[in-house]
Amino acid sequence: MTPADGSDTERHAVLTPAAEVAADLGVNPDTGLSQHEARRRLAAHGPNELVGTAAAPAWLRFLAQFKDPLVFLLLIAIAISLIAWIIEGAHGVPIDAVVIGAIVVLNAIVGYIQENRAADAVAALQNMAAATATVLRDGSRTTIPATDVVVGDILILGEGDAVAADARLGHAEGLRVQESALTGEAESVDKDNRTLSELSGIGDRTNMVFKGTAVSQGTGRAIVVATGMDTEMGAIATMLDSTVSEPSPLEKEISSVSKMLGILVIGIAVVTMLVLFVVNNVSTVAEAVEVLLLGVSLAVAAVPEGLPAILTVVLAIGVQKLAEHRAVVTELHSVETLGSASVICSDKTGTLTRNEMTIQRIVTSSGSVSVAGIGYAPEGEVLDEATGQAPTGALYFESRRLLVEASLANDADLQQADDGSWQIIGDPTEASFLVALRKLEGAADRAADFERRNSVPFNSDRKMMSVLQADRAADGNLKVMAKGAPDVLLGRCVKIQVGEKVMDLDDRRRAEVLQTVEDLSGQAYRTMGVAWREITPQDADPFDEEDESDLVYVGTVGIIDPPRDEAASAVAEAHRAGVRTIMITGDHPTTASRIAADLGITDGVHPAVTGAALQAMDEASLIETVKDNSVYARVAPEHKLRIVNALQHDGSVVAMTGDGVNDAPALKTADIGVAMGITGTEVTKQAARMILGDDNFATIVTAIRQGRSIFANIKKFLRYLLSSNVGEVITVFFGVLLAGVIGLSQASPGAEMVIPLLATQILWINLVTDTGPALAMGVDPEVDDPMALPPRDQSERIIDRQMWSGIVLIGLVMGAITLATMDIFLPGGLIPGGTDDLETARTAAFTTLVFAQLFNALNSRSETTSAFHRLFSNRWLWGSVALAVVLQVAVVEVPFLQTAFGTTSLDLAHWAIAVGMSSLVLWVDEIRKVVLRRRVGSVAA
Ligand code: ATP
Repeated sequence: MTPADGSDTERHAVLTPAAEVAADLGVNPDTGLSQHEARRRLAAHGPNELVGTAAAPAWLRFLAQFKDPLVFLLLIAIAISLIAWIIEGAHGVPIDAVVIGAIVVLNAIVGYIQENRAADAVAALQNMAAATATVLRDGSRTTIPATDVVVGDILILGEGDAVAADARLGHAEGLRVQESALTGEAESVDKDNRTLSELSGIGDRTNMVFKGTAVSQGTGRAIVVATGMDTEMGAIATMLDSTVSEPSPLEKEISSVSKMLGILVIGIAVVTMLVLFVVNNVSTVAEAVEVLLLGVSLAVAAVPEGLPAILTVVLAIGVQKLAEHRAVVTELHSVETLGSASVICSDKTGTLTRNEMTIQRIVTSSGSVSVAGIGYAPEGEVLDEATGQAPTGALYFESRRLLVEASLANDADLQQADDGSWQIIGDPTEASFLVALRKLEGAADRAADFERRNSVPFNSDRKMMSVLQADRAADGNLKVMAKGAPDVLLGRCVKIQVGEKVMDLDDRRRAEVLQTVEDLSGQAYRTMGVAWREITPQDADPFDEEDESDLVYVGTVGIIDPPRDEAASAVAEAHRAGVRTIMITGDHPTTASRIAADLGITDGVHPAVTGAALQAMDEASLIETVKDNSVYARVAPEHKLRIVNALQHDGSVVAMTGDGVNDAPALKTADIGVAMGITGTEVTKQAARMILGDDNFATIVTAIRQGRSIFANIKKFLRYLLSSNVGEVITVFFGVLLAGVIGLSQASPGAEMVIPLLATQILWINLVTDTGPALAMGVDPEVDDPMALPPRDQSERIIDRQMWSGIVLIGLVMGAITLATMDIFLPGGLIPGGTDDLETARTAAFTTLVFAQLFNALNSRSETTSAFHRLFSNRWLWGSVALAVVLQVAVVEVPFLQTAFGTTSLDLAHWAIAVGMSSLVLWVDEIRKVVLRRRVGSVAA
């Protein structure tokens, strides 16, 4: 079977009438499957998904934790030490081998849990953004996860829907489907339910719709004949094999940092081992093994190989937090991109405004009326603005005609719920006409007088819609009734309604109408015009865009759509963060400018750019235009794509909102395509990197703030882990190198190896101090204001020079205080007066290094802000620090741990000195931060 050929079932479906296909699949096309039967089929045939490579079983994933070459080396070292122990007579317990073995296993468990957590979060992410499908079940339409669609389901398709499975059309109205994902053909293809007489290629199977394609226009119903891997898409998925996703820039940088540091650490470990061999004059196997273990342990502990896993976990935690703020990102890396977003291109209606449309003004040839009341309850007086009385005569006739026709050229519905409240079904703009008509003349049902025969639907490109209605009262005479953007509609009008008469729409009258539109728009009203004409049955067949001509203009309405309460402050917040807001709308330029000015989007200097003007611009002038102009009006979806490209040309990182099917290309091209969760189509949701649960502009700004916080948290754990690792390496390296200077050599004349820390202690530090605090930093609350700085330049490295110097400084301080602690307690050395044995001094130094790392956790929460600022805001961090302290006390004081880790009990004075010395890390960093703040302050001044 080749994909061009399709499965047997599909071939059969193409050549068989839909009713027969339904019968063959055991489904009634009018009611769909029963829920029970659908569940049975789902259980029997599995979910409707394209399966990638199966996940490895848990035990394999656990074993994979040991695949690290360093751990491997450590295991070999352990094996050698065991062999040496056996050769030497196997006296007692091979403590080092057992302890190191246990630590390696523990590390693997931690790593495994961490990876699982990351995988779970990624899976949860996929669920949050899961695709849905509308199907008929038990006679009613239900929206279900696309994965639950089974063979025999009746798919209900509408504009903007993603086709969930391969299906045979039983019914189609003006249906066009975008199949480029499957056929590479960019043009949408017309679909209908006609049975084909011969089998053709996929692109010509006009009575089928395929999984992974999108409905660009029209409606339809289709019987699912294949799901999951049995679909055409499934066949391609098998051929293409699983695609490996490209690592994000941040992932790349972090893995290159860990690689670079890894090599450095291994180099230092090797040098350390060589020095030890030479200095100690290693002669026994036991000594050689000890050196080997130390070197390898140092490498295992200090090579930051766990960074990528922690990065994933931190990103995943961030994604969950974003979801709590009603922003669902569809992939982990979008979180990083969010942090560097520099422009938000936002729709107006519903995103910056509330999308609660109320008609307040009606302007016709004979005057204007005001309509009182807000919301959808049809209560409010309709008054002639000139007289303050109810409209009469010509004005009444025109207003009524306008509202009646617009209510018929309409797909919305107005309903009163049991509790008396009013609700609308469908588009709020359309519903506003139903509400106004009811305010004018009560509950009279105009629709009963007419029979709707056909329609040319609204879309953002056309900016108008019309219906073909048969007038029951007038022998079924046909009428075209249209409503739409007044400037667009006027272009199709030749006459104008004046009272009951129809007059020529001469230049003067046309100019008057346009002036009305301009006036209403200037007052932030969304404007809409209404027109009509009579039409003969011959002309109306077929009924299409050509029939929307020679119309009679009736009048213009002003619809108020208040800005969302939080929109202006969100625009200001974005501005403070160096993020520019651009409004892109299908609405009138004057309306758009007025609302943009109210929200603080425009500077008032640069006018709104219209779609027509944009159309006429070449790339170069568009690139110039987008630099300063922030309002784009009367644009069509394809203009959005050009705007994104022009902005990106200048290096902007663009977030772009969209809801309609034609917005998908712009959303895909934008750095962060943002789909509307409530009003958005399935296709835009699938093209987007982020879905707004509440369609709200402010949520985008919140998400950017979150993205920046997450990025700051990534920096925190990098700062913490890297400086700790550098500290460990410096301690061991200089401990070995300067053994003579700090009194270490003298303390161990001949008998013991001169090593500052034991292999087991180094591994312990790694286990106790690394993971807990690092993960806690992933959920750290904001310490610095993330919106105070401009967006991050994507080409900028996450660890810049300043951060590196901080990391190295802290590492040096850690090494210095650890070795100094040792010197304090050892006789001789630079600091005289010590009287302790090596074991005690080493335990104190070991403890100092552990505590220094814990103090450093507090430092790492900010590059420049004092550790004491919001010191107690992260309970996870304090929890992990407390746990590490308890473990350290245990390893020093509990006898069997003393044996395992070569420690000995410390008295209070030793504890106090260890804590005091380790706290120096905090004080030194505080000083560094003061200096940095001063420097930034003086630069700013
Ligand atoms: P956005 O800001 O999200 O682009 P918008 O509603 O202003 O939203 P469109 O939905 O593309 O943009 O509408 C463009 C114009 O088309 C509107 O200004 C209005 O005049 C007209 N229009 C809107 N909805 C309808 C409709 N249902 N029927 C006819 N005309 C409409």
